Order: sequence, then structure tokens, then C-alpha cells
Amino acid sequence: MKKERVVIIGSGPAGLTAALYTARAQLAPVVIAGNQLGGQVAITHEIENYPGFPDGLSGPELVERMKEHAENFGAVVEFDLVENVDFSSGSPFYIKTYGEEYLADAVIVTIGADPRKLGVPGEEEFTGTGVSYCGTCDGFFFRGKDIVVVGGGDSALEEGLFLTRFATSVNVIHRRDELRAGIQLQTRAFNNEKISFTWNSVVEEIIGDENGVNALRLKNVVTGEETIHPTEGVFIFIGHDPNNAVFGDQIALNENGYIITDQRYRTNVEGVFAAGEIQDEIWRQVATSVGQGTSAAMSAIQWLEANEEHLQALDALPAVGD
Ligand code: NAP
Repeated sequence: MKKERVVIIGSGPAGLTAALYTARAQLAPVVIAGNQLGGQVAITHEIENYPGFPDGLSGPELVERMKEHAENFGAVVEFDLVENVDFSSGSPFYIKTYGEEYLADAVIVTIGADPRKLGVPGEEEFTGTGVSYCGTCDGFFFRGKDIVVVGGGDSALEEGLFLTRFATSVNVIHRRDELRAGIQLQTRAFNNEKISFTWNSVVEEIIGDENGVNALRLKNVVTGEETIHPTEGVFIFIGHDPNNAVFGDQIALNENGYIITDQRYRTNVEGVFAAGEIQDEIWRQVATSVGQGTSAAMSAIQWLEANEEHLQALDALPAVGD
């Protein structure tokens, strides 16, 4: 069992920024990176809206730089997955990964959320060659093309509107005949001549070849009729699923499963902080995650300082079984 001052669960921009700040505070944080360093950013072709990089840079390059930056100050990044945690007796918190067991004085949870998948044939196969979950990231690659957006919420319309900058046409495919999105976005979408709608329809299959996507098989849920809809790009915005499974009922979540934090990024468990997309279901930007990771780290640093004496006294106690 390893004893650490700070363990950070997740290696996206929020986690790597929290690692940088806690490392510079001499806390030698351990980052449990998960399956993929950088999380969702790692599968983003190009990031053009992160300040300081006027020519843009790729997602993998940005997270590699963030990792190197944090490591330069003493952070340790472990390519491992959290299996379960026990936060029930307070600090130090128990974290079991596939390769190790940790006790951490403070924990910063930055485990993120994943875009919800349709779960239809072709979706996984064509992800990156016609199927995307991020208009802001990939829209540029669909200049002059006819594309579709799947979903009827704020994200679908906001990203659909954004995609009209590049695409020739954007067809929004929604499973009902009424949008969930707010009225302002609806009005803007209805007034945009590049946007059209396919109502009461679900995607049954994404069809393509070695060059990428070329059509969808759609089913009308009212009539049962199936049609082939030609398209070169499928942008799927049907919500996100926060990666909360390892926490069970040990951290307070909102009705959508996101961790509830206060303005200081404290969770309901004293000594456990959360930042990035596991607690932010609205903005989901690299820049916002970086800011939240900074705030969570500063709160953790302050909390550790305020509780230094108490935590040292706990450290001095013999471990169970000694
Ligand atoms: P959302 O509000 O949950 O909408 C998801 C949409 O996808 C819904 O229209 C839903 O259909 C549809 N859907 C869900 N599962 C599906 C499936 N398996 N197959 C086909 N369609 C499916 O998600 P979101 O749009 O990502 O928004 C998340 C939160 O962020 C919301 O609170 C939203 O208001 C907020 N947000 C705000 C802004 C803004 O204010 N500018 C921008 C983006 C997001 P149904 O309608 O039939 O359920």
C-alpha cells in the first residue's frame, strides 16, 4: 500500500492541471491516468480554441505537453485504472487500482464524462473517419459536405449551428417530433437555411467503406419505414455519461450523475475535490477544465495546509495489522 499526499483520478486537462499545481506545492501528486492519457482530448484531431496556441495543436500533443509540464515539477503519472475506492472513514482515503493500493490525504477526482454512444453497427468502426462526437473539434474536416447531427438537445442544435460554418447542409435527426433544446437555439436553428430536420427517426446503421461514412440506415419510429440517407459525416450529440461508477454512493451526485461541488470544487466528502467534466455538464471545454483543475488543486492545497497537524498525527498511528 502506498501512502500519498494527493491522488488525482483522471488525466484529462483538469487532472493534469491539478497535478501541475499540487506538484508545484511540493505534494508529489500521483495521477491515475486511466485507459488513455488525456481522456476525450486525446481523440481530438485539432484544438484551435486553447489560448496561447494561435496555430492550434493536436489533442495528443496538448496532453503530452501538460503531462511533461506536471512531471517536471514532480507529479507521477501511472497508467492504471481505479477499481474501487473507500471514502467512508474520511482522510486518508483508500483507492484500489488494478496494479496498486493507495492511501491519500486528499483526492482530486477528474475522471470526466464520455459522450453517449448510439450503439449501432458502424458507429465504432467509423469513429474518426466520419463519425464524431465533437463539432468544435472536427467540423473543419467537413467543409463543403452534407452531414447529419443526431439528437434534439441544446448540444445537438448548438453544435449543428456551429457546423453550418463548414458543411453545405446539416440535417438534424431526432427520435421525436419535438426538440428538447431551449427555445432560443430552436429559433436560430429553424431560421438557418442550411439546417433541416428529420423527425421521429433513429439511426439503425452507419454505412461506409474504406474512405469513411457514405450513408445511414434510418427507421421512422412512427411508421416503421426504413430509408437510406446519404451523408459523409455523422455528429452524435445524445448526451454524456459521467464516469461515476467507481464511486458508488460515496460522493453526492446530481440527478444526471455528475459530482456536486461548491464554488471551491469541494465535494460533500471533506478532503475530496472534483473538477472538469465529472462535475461540469455544461461547458466541457479544455480551457474550462484547466481552470477548474487549477481551482480544485488550490482548494486541496489549502485544505491540506489547514489540516496538516491532524493528518500528521494520523500518519504517526500504527497501520492496521502492525
Ligand atoms: P440532453 O439535453 O440530454 O439531450 C440529449 C438529446 O439526445 C435529447 O434530445 C434526446 O432525445 C436525444 N437522445 C438521447 N439518447 C438518445 C438515443 N439513444 N438515440 C437518439 N437520441 C437520443 O444532452 P445535451 O444536449 O448534451 O445537453 C446536456 C446539458 O448541457 C443540458 O442541461 C443542456 O441544457 C446543457 N447545454 C447547454 C447549452 C447552452 O445553454 N448553450 C449547450 C449545450 C448543452 P429526447 O429529447 O427524446 O430525450
